[in-house]
Order: sequence, then structure tokens, then C-alpha cells
Amino acid sequence: MSTTPEPARRVLVTGASSGIGAATVRRLRAEGFDVVAAARRLDRLEALAAETGAEAYALDVTDQGAVDDLVAHLEASGGLDGVVNNAGGAFGLDPVEDADVEQWQHMYELNVVGTLRVTQGVLPLLRAAAERRGGAEGAGADVVFVTSTAAHGAYEGGAGYTAAKHGERMLSTTLRWELAGEPIRVVEVAPGAVATEEFSLVRFDGDAAKAAAVYEGYQPLQAADVADVIGYALTRPPYVNIDLLVVRPRAQVHNSKVARTGV
Ligand code: NAP
Repeated sequence: MSTTPEPARRVLVTGASSGIGAATVRRLRAEGFDVVAAARRLDRLEALAAETGAEAYALDVTDQGAVDDLVAHLEASGGLDGVVNNAGGAFGLDPVEDADVEQWQHMYELNVVGTLRVTQGVLPLLRAAAERRGGAEGAGADVVFVTSTAAHGAYEGGAGYTAAKHGERMLSTTLRWELAGEPIRVVEVAPGAVATEEFSLVRFDGDAAKAAAVYEGYQPLQAADVADVIGYALTRPPYVNIDLLVVRPRAQVHNSKVARTGV
């Protein structure tokens, strides 16, 4: 019997240059995974790579050619055992009546189509890795989707983001049905309010006061809390599939019901 140790599992994390993605890179490196950290801002990824030993890779998930190049790179450099589809975001908080069509298109392109591009691209690599690691009888591969509680309900002003996140959630759920019987897990992690440094700033187009107000008067989740959940899902025995994990701050019982104090 061979005593050669199994090589570390290699996971791609998209949207890794800040927030939940960066925290997930840290968490997965601490768990012993090889990690490819991808996003558009290479300088931030390189700092994270220097800190964690991950590989930095510049990627815009809305660019099909860039995703194709990433897949070719992954294939030529050892393949891939898992992907954390985390790149995403919200733009605006306007009622349907005043909604900005371009913001809606951008949210759909980033959260749904971008996630589709990456998932479609890496699936053959994941299947090959799962086969290499023992197929149906042994360890497999993983596809994680970071959706949101916005993928599970409505809130005023949120239709563009909730529509996109519902779309991403259906992509995740449908893929699980389609891969049934294959050694590939499909995991959805749906966080409530997470105080990441950029999510609300991006949503409110750089308005720091509006962004800060989202997290006032209660203890929101931190990026590391969500990374913890992702790390948990990826370190279960291979036959255990965490289909859906909803994680919210204790003070938030619904997207639009947050128990705030002192505000
Ligand atoms: P964040 O800090 O704004 O991070 C978003 C990440 O996505 C950044 O690394 C950004 O990096 C990357 N990104 C944006 N556009 C991209 C593109 N076209 N191609 C590749 N990467 C792109 O937000 P976060 O709070 O960590 O959110 C991460 C995920 O969790 C998102 O899917 C978000 O919808 C979801 N989520 C967030 C919350 C929350 O309250 N914060 C709650 C539930 C779910 P670059 O700009 O460098 O590309």
C-alpha cells in the first residue's frame, strides 16, 4: 500500500480581495487547503497571498475570456478540488418604481451570470479531481455558493439584489439536482448582515455615512463568521452535504427586522 500522503485540496475563492472572500482565504489556508484567491484588484490579492501563502489571480468574473484563461491556468497547474463562488454585491437600494436598470443588469451579470461562468468553467476540473481522489467511494469535490438571506426573502428597496440572489440560489439548487450521484457537493451559504468594509460602501456608491448606518445599534456578523461556516462545510466527511446554511446576527430575524439599541 502506498504511503504517499494525499496532496492538499485546492480551492478557488472568487471575490477574495476583501470581506468574506479574504476571510475565507485565511480560513481555508489555516485548514491546510491550497487556495487560489481571485478578484479584480491584484494588489490586494498579492498582500493576502504574502500573508497566507495563497496564490493571487486577477479575475473579472463578468469577462468570459478572463474566466477561460483562469480555467486553463488551473488545469495546467494541478487542477481544482473546490470553488467558493463569493464574488458578488449589491448596487443601490431604490424602490422598484425608481430602480436603475443598469444597476439591475450589473447585479445580475455579477451575482448570477458571473457565478455561472466560473462554475461552468471549473466543473470539468472538479469532476476530474473527484475521480482522481476516489470518485463515488472516496473524497470528492465541492461547489460553494455565497448567496444571502436576500436569496430567501424580499425587503423594500432590495428587489434588484434579491432578484439576483434568488437567481444565484436557483443556480445552486438546480446544480445540486443535476449533479446527484456524482461525488461533487453543492453547498449554499446564505448570510444576513455582515459588516465587511466594502459591501455597503459599494451599494451606496461610496457614501460612508449611509454604509455605516446599516450596522449601527447591533452586533452584525463579521467576515470571519461566514468564513467559519464555509470552512465547516468544506471539512465535513465527503458524504455529508450541507445543502444550505443560513447565518444571521442574533439581532436580525429578517432582512428588514433588526433589533437595534441606542439609535
Ligand atoms: P465585498 O467586501 O464588497 O467583497 C466583494 C468581492 O467581490 C470583492 O473582493 C470584489 O473584489 C469582488 N468582485 C466584485 N466584482 C467582481 C468581479 N466583476 N469579478 C471578480 N470579483 C469581483 O463584499 P462581501 O460583504 O465580502 O460580500 C461577499 C459576498 O457575500 C457577495 O456575494 C455578497 O453578495 C454576499 N453577501 C454579503 C453580505 C453582507 O452583508 N456583507 C450578506 C450576505 C451575502 P474586486 O473589486 O477586487 O474585484
